[in-house]
Amino acid sequence: MNSETLNSTSLNSKFATSQSMDTASIRQQFPILHRTIRGKRLAYLDSAATTQKPQVVLNSLQQYYSQINANVHRGIHFLSEQASQAYAESRTTVQKFLNAKEARECIFVRGTTEAINLIARCFGEAFVGPNDEILISEMEHHSNIVPWQMLAKRNGAKLKFIPLNPNGDLDLSNLEELLSERTKILAITHVSNAIGTLNPIKMIIDLAHTKGIPVLVDGAQAAPHLKIDVQALDCDFYTFSSHKTYGPTGVGVLYGKAHWLEKLPPYQGGGDMILKVTMQESEYNQLPHKFEAGTPSIAAVIALGTALNFLMNLDREAIRQHEENLLQLTEKMLSNFPGIQIIGSPKQRLALLSFTMKGIHPHDIASIVDQEGVALRAGHHCAMPLMDFFAVNGSSRVSFGLYNNEEDIAQLAHALQQVQTLFKGRI
Ligand code: PMP
Repeated sequence: MNSETLNSTSLNSKFATSQSMDTASIRQQFPILHRTIRGKRLAYLDSAATTQKPQVVLNSLQQYYSQINANVHRGIHFLSEQASQAYAESRTTVQKFLNAKEARECIFVRGTTEAINLIARCFGEAFVGPNDEILISEMEHHSNIVPWQMLAKRNGAKLKFIPLNPNGDLDLSNLEELLSERTKILAITHVSNAIGTLNPIKMIIDLAHTKGIPVLVDGAQAAPHLKIDVQALDCDFYTFSSHKTYGPTGVGVLYGKAHWLEKLPPYQGGGDMILKVTMQESEYNQLPHKFEAGTPSIAAVIALGTALNFLMNLDREAIRQHEENLLQLTEKMLSNFPGIQIIGSPKQRLALLSFTMKGIHPHDIASIVDQEGVALRAGHHCAMPLMDFFAVNGSSRVSFGLYNNEEDIAQLAHALQQVQTLFKGRI
């Protein structure tokens, strides 16, 4: 391989625009990036699985538990009022982050997985019957496949798929026919978590709407990187996870247009989601409470608000450009390795890519680079149908967050050289 690609100084000068973002000062705000792993500097390249957390988010969690811990919506006392207010402010922050029309359209759930399950369950119960169709694509994460399979089984509906082109873009040539009179909902990912394809969702949403079909967008891999405007997209539902967006685990967001959410039955029964209960029946609460039964993940919700404010206070276009530069740099670096194949070549990729190394199992790659302090993802990435499409059992995935830099890529290049050295003769 070309030694130039290993040299982070030369990489820096090649992509001078990425320096417009002050990565060094951003990295300062993420304590975990300063620990060593097996005696090596940490090159964290697994942000698509979960992002690291900035100090402000850690402070927010600490502050909640040390200063205002109380249940929300239930107490008249001071702490409960403060906790309820912070919880409500977080919803307003989410509204701003997504540019939702109303805060009550933003429901706190456990994550993207729960958001999609909620819609599959509640929308399914209200609107999907025998022989109706649900349309998804072949590039979905299991979270956007399995809940629809379960619904199809439950209600006797049919699950259909938008196919893929060999380069890993959606094949939209037959989309109009796939959106039939029987299609009740289209659920599609904004960005593929396995190969990084950025889908033209606005066009897809508009086409579905010409036939009156609502669209759910799985935004788990888009929200951390793109400015999301649900009103401009005009999507009916949008989902994302806090932990992939610099916030804590245990919380995520389901956005839904108010008129849809109002029509859906509740997801779970319990406290907070009711206005009145008798022994025989219950009157359900208004949005958003109708979908938030029981004590929520209060600290995580509040810290999610902190994470989103942290992101919104940065120059998001500069971050996008920075991550794009890192991606191009990685593609170039990998192309210098014999036997490495990047999976797919979509028109637009966002912040991640996957590759295979001839003759070497992705798990072996991940364990060897781990010895060098590099955190990579290996496996099927919860997208087995997509792996089948590319006829691979799994792959190694590199994914970026706003804190990554050229040094991480140089470290990865060095670690991959170790892999090749160890497996010499097999590739
Ligand atoms: N959809 C996509 C595209 C994802 O990348 C993920 C997480 N890997 C999910 C859904 C599920 O997210 P979570 O595990 O946070 O619910």
